[in-house]
Amino acid sequence: MATRKSNTLKLKFDSARNLSPAPESKSAAKIEPRYDLFINGKFEKPLSKKYFSTINPATEEKLSEVADANAADVNKAVVAARTAYDKVWKKMPAKERAKYIYRIARIMQERAREFAVVETLDGGKPIRESRDFDIPTAANHFFYYAGWADKLEYAFPNRTAKPLGVAGQIIPWNFPLLMAAWKIAPALATGNTVVLKPAETTPLTALKLAEIIQEADLPPGVVNIITGAGATGAALVNHPDINKIAFTGSTAVGKMIQHAIAGTNKKATLELGGKAANIIFDDAPLDQAVEGVINGIFFNQGHVCCAGSRLYVQESVFKEVIRKLKDRMETLIVGDPLDKNTDIGAINSRQQLDIINNYLKIGKQEGAEMYQSSCNLPRKGFFCKPTIFTNVAQSNRIAQEEIFGPVLAIQSFRTDDEVIEKANNTPFGLSAGIWTDKGSKIFNLSSKMRAGVVWANSFNKFDPSSPFGGYKESGYGREGGLHGLSGYVNLV
Ligand code: ADP
Repeated sequence: MATRKSNTLKLKFDSARNLSPAPESKSAAKIEPRYDLFINGKFEKPLSKKYFSTINPATEEKLSEVADANAADVNKAVVAARTAYDKVWKKMPAKERAKYIYRIARIMQERAREFAVVETLDGGKPIRESRDFDIPTAANHFFYYAGWADKLEYAFPNRTAKPLGVAGQIIPWNFPLLMAAWKIAPALATGNTVVLKPAETTPLTALKLAEIIQEADLPPGVVNIITGAGATGAALVNHPDINKIAFTGSTAVGKMIQHAIAGTNKKATLELGGKAANIIFDDAPLDQAVEGVINGIFFNQGHVCCAGSRLYVQESVFKEVIRKLKDRMETLIVGDPLDKNTDIGAINSRQQLDIINNYLKIGKQEGAEMYQSSCNLPRKGFFCKPTIFTNVAQSNRIAQEEIFGPVLAIQSFRTDDEVIEKANNTPFGLSAGIWTDKGSKIFNLSSKMRAGVVWANSFNKFDPSSPFGGYKESGYGREGGLHGLSGYVNLV
């Protein structure tokens, strides 16, 4: 009986993995061999005279090289943003500003395919994700905030919303274009100008966004895009003429930024790490819950700050859920991110893969039991098998620290109070998921979870109109929705 069952299962897995290749064409993606800094509406050679390579993490091939901005370059970008703010943008009627933001959204929609391919080539995420989620959601953010630009008196009744000035914006590599949209759209809608720095491993879609900005005829200097690594980011944070820092990235760098701006007048919103708990109760629709867990931790290689990287399963359904989870893991296709069938693409960089592999070692040393899907990984590029750990203790590092990879730490629980206590017991508080048939349980838990977003019977759902942000070491301030406007205005 057991053999027949496992044979059937094996057939199912093989047929999923033996789908014919269906790669998206690269011809839509025009990548220049070299990109300069986008300052004052033009691509300008860096004063540093330095460039660095950006590679495709799925093949390790060089895609392009981009400028490495030094402090003098950062200063040039900030001066351009300040001039544009004083001379043009803050004086422009809000409904005129809105037109530019709409135009950016429209052009992004028109060039969506090209952007999806570049996002996947530079970052390693499956084309399905960049095509169906990242790029359309980025365009939606521009549409959404364009709508607010001339309605700020309704967003803040009986108050006048004044822009802050120049916003320095620093973003990570997990959602390169979407994070740029999250940051730029509300800043422009509220009348601020921007200097944005994308992550050093994924600069290309931000630089292509600069092309859109040129095409949309945005006044020069309103948005400046500079590339570089941590030192460039630090120079932006420390520049005296920046009024606001918007940062998404690691908690460690978030803390450094807080130190750097302490005692200054700079405002900040920080969206940092997470260690989200997915909670499955015994009355939940289990197949749906398992699919949500898979989506929450594996579909984006776990490269999501709100990834559901912890799972708590009620004891009476623990074995069944683990079996279903393992079965589903076996059907996941890991490989070429450009292939439309791929579920799990490449890890963003060798450095990140090393971090993840180190956590796999730590998990085993801590006594947890590791299970990985039996898939083969491509020989080149940075890949990691979907991995779960059972027999995990709450104090284990794999249950407490953000791994940022396709690694899930699983524990069981008996009562509501126990699981609330466990789910809240990390330094983070960005997001959580609850799976149950009972509305009352959802209300009870969601009001007690210390997490900025709590999804019920779903996970990783986003909309430009809903705010996003964290508690505790996950940061402060909210992005998205009406709340996302607040971080860019002074109310008088
Ligand atoms: P991740 O772990 O997601 O790569 P990081 O916090 O290292 O997160 O990076 C997020 C962004 O912060 C990147 O654009 C990176 O270049 C930038 N960054 C790194 N170090 C600093 C720093 N000291 N000051 C400002 N920005 C930084």
